[in-house]
Amino acid sequence: MFKSIFKTNGEKKTEIVEKIETFLAEQQAEFIWSLIQFESEKTPEQVTKVILPFKFKALEAFIRQNFKQIKIEYQLQLASLNKPHQNKLATIKHVVAIASGKGGVGKSTTTVNLARALAKSGAQVGVLDADIYGPSIPLMFGLQGEQPDTLDGKIMQPLKTDEGIKCNSIGFLVDPNEAAIWRGPMASRALTQLFNETEWGELDYLLIDLPPGTGDIQLTLTQSLPLSGALVVTTPQNIALADAKKAIAMFNKVDIEVVGLIENMSVHICSQCGHVEHIFGCDGGRQLAENEGVQVLGFTPLDINLREIMDNGDSAGFYDASFYKSYQLIGLKLAKELYCLAQARPASQTISITQLD
Ligand code: ADP
Repeated sequence: MFKSIFKTNGEKKTEIVEKIETFLAEQQAEFIWSLIQFESEKTPEQVTKVILPFKFKALEAFIRQNFKQIKIEYQLQLASLNKPHQNKLATIKHVVAIASGKGGVGKSTTTVNLARALAKSGAQVGVLDADIYGPSIPLMFGLQGEQPDTLDGKIMQPLKTDEGIKCNSIGFLVDPNEAAIWRGPMASRALTQLFNETEWGELDYLLIDLPPGTGDIQLTLTQSLPLSGALVVTTPQNIALADAKKAIAMFNKVDIEVVGLIENMSVHICSQCGHVEHIFGCDGGRQLAENEGVQVLGFTPLDINLREIMDNGDSAGFYDASFYKSYQLIGLKLAKELYCLAQARPASQTISITQLD
């Protein structure tokens, strides 16, 4: 591997190195640069293989288009789960809990759209909707009224969205009015079962939409699920930030890494004139992240088109909208953080490799 040679000697930068740097800068994804490796068989100038840390279809397509002879490989990915799990039908590299101190801040919206962005980047993605107070993922994915099949009355086959995202939800299985009044132990048991008894198969990422709040249910769940880390979703106003702070404290208490904070509804973009306004205040998420020692993974705007897409349960228009870019970037940042976590964690549950050429 000759990457260090390229980096220390500007004159020796090959065309592929330069072009990838420019591509990443255009995508605002420079943070991935240090994770890419270049291999050459003879001299550093003759790159023969590029090794990418995780799925990034756009970069892969770019390399293939511009450098047909160069091989692309994905690096060995270790699972970074904090404990082994009992689901023998699942090989999952990263399980991520998505939490919010408060309901209505866009936790489910963020879960669904992050899953979309990760799937679009080429990853295998699953979503587990554990929000017993309002399981809205089936509606958002347009899967309302459907039910997972079971082969033996126990193991469930997750539903699949048009984008290939595997999904299971407490909303498919029980009357939401009933689930919302479950006591803590019952809710945690049911949700852990939902994780364990779904045939997730091979996944790069399983995103778990937790119930909002920081009570008994959330605490037990975060302790019983095999997590790589957690994301906290908030909106910028003080009243939501105070609860987001509690969510961060909850994860700290149970030793689960908060991989990032996402500020939703950061700015409002007027659908008529494009005017940008900080309806819920400015910089709240950034300030909270700074105070709590976590990083902001990204910002997503308050946009009427986004609300319509979610409520209609149809992704038409999503990938062409300007807000998709925000989710794409957050997805890449999340992938990077999880990759780095997996590298840093000695204990891993599974090993697998994806090779393209
Ligand atoms: P939570 O899971 O935190 O309870 P949801 O994701 O269900 O919140 O979102 C609550 C409502 O707000 C939904 O109708 C959703 O479509 C809408 N919403 C969420 N985020 C946005 C956004 N950035 N722009 C517009 N509407 C949004």
